[in-house]
Amino acid sequence: MKKRNWLLPVCAAFLLGACSDETAQEPEDTAQEQSAQTDVEDDVASEQSASEQSDQPDIEEQENAEEELGEQDAEQSAEPRYRINPQNSQVEPIGDANEQAVLITIDDAPDTYSLEMAKTLKELDVPAIFFVNGHFLDTDEEQQTLSEIHDMGFAIGNHTNTHVNLKQSTESVQQDEIVSLNEHVEAITGEEPKFFRAPFGVNTEFSKALAEEQGMVRMNWTYGYDFMEGYMEPEALTEIMINAPELNNGGNLLMHDREWTNEALPQIIEGLRDKGYEFVDPDEIEGI
Ligand SMILES: [Zn+2]
Repeated sequence: MKKRNWLLPVCAAFLLGACSDETAQEPEDTAQEQSAQTDVEDDVASEQSASEQSDQPDIEEQENAEEELGEQDAEQSAEPRYRINPQNSQVEPIGDANEQAVLITIDDAPDTYSLEMAKTLKELDVPAIFFVNGHFLDTDEEQQTLSEIHDMGFAIGNHTNTHVNLKQSTESVQQDEIVSLNEHVEAITGEEPKFFRAPFGVNTEFSKALAEEQGMVRMNWTYGYDFMEGYMEPEALTEIMINAPELNNGGNLLMHDREWTNEALPQIIEGLRDKGYEFVDPDEIEGI
């Protein structure tokens, strides 16, 4: 409890400086995004401690309970094999799915590096979600980029139209931020986003209900470092993404469309694989 109390003013301080002027520019904005992780949702504590909860026994219980579901499920990609825990955004296996798996997510796409990151991931056979911002989808070229990423098989998630702080937005603005982007993405890719991640990890009751109504699975993340001082270069970022104390089975890994993240990506994937982690296919995540 002491720890939480101590953290709150820190979060608040970050948020105050947040994103009033938007957007996905720069680490600064995503730094708040990170702090927001701790600040989100109904219960601050459970969000904050997503990483602390990482060794929780519930995954094991589930595994045992559903063990006999059978091997065939693995063959059927339409069958959900994982689900997102709404409390901490961790990915939990269903049935016999491998529990030593993490989910790769790239936010603030498709700005500058997303296409290259998608190519890297494709080459390494790693599925991922690209959470896109509408303000990166204005031009034909940007739309073409999104289309290519989608056609490579990656999941496209909704990260709002202009990367607003939903808590500082009226309901009609929230509505527009979320719904208009879904429509825009569908117009470009032919498919509406199945996933929603709020900018800065900050949702409202309204946005939660709206995301659900729009058929999207909502998530924040377990950990991410590429917007934090000291990690905005490939080597340090690789090191921390592979050795973060928060790394655990079902980890929901947050990265961004950033130069250093793009550079570090192959080593991050390799390092996680060396540790025995597989990568969750978003197509296998249970919808709502
Ligand atoms: Zn963002």
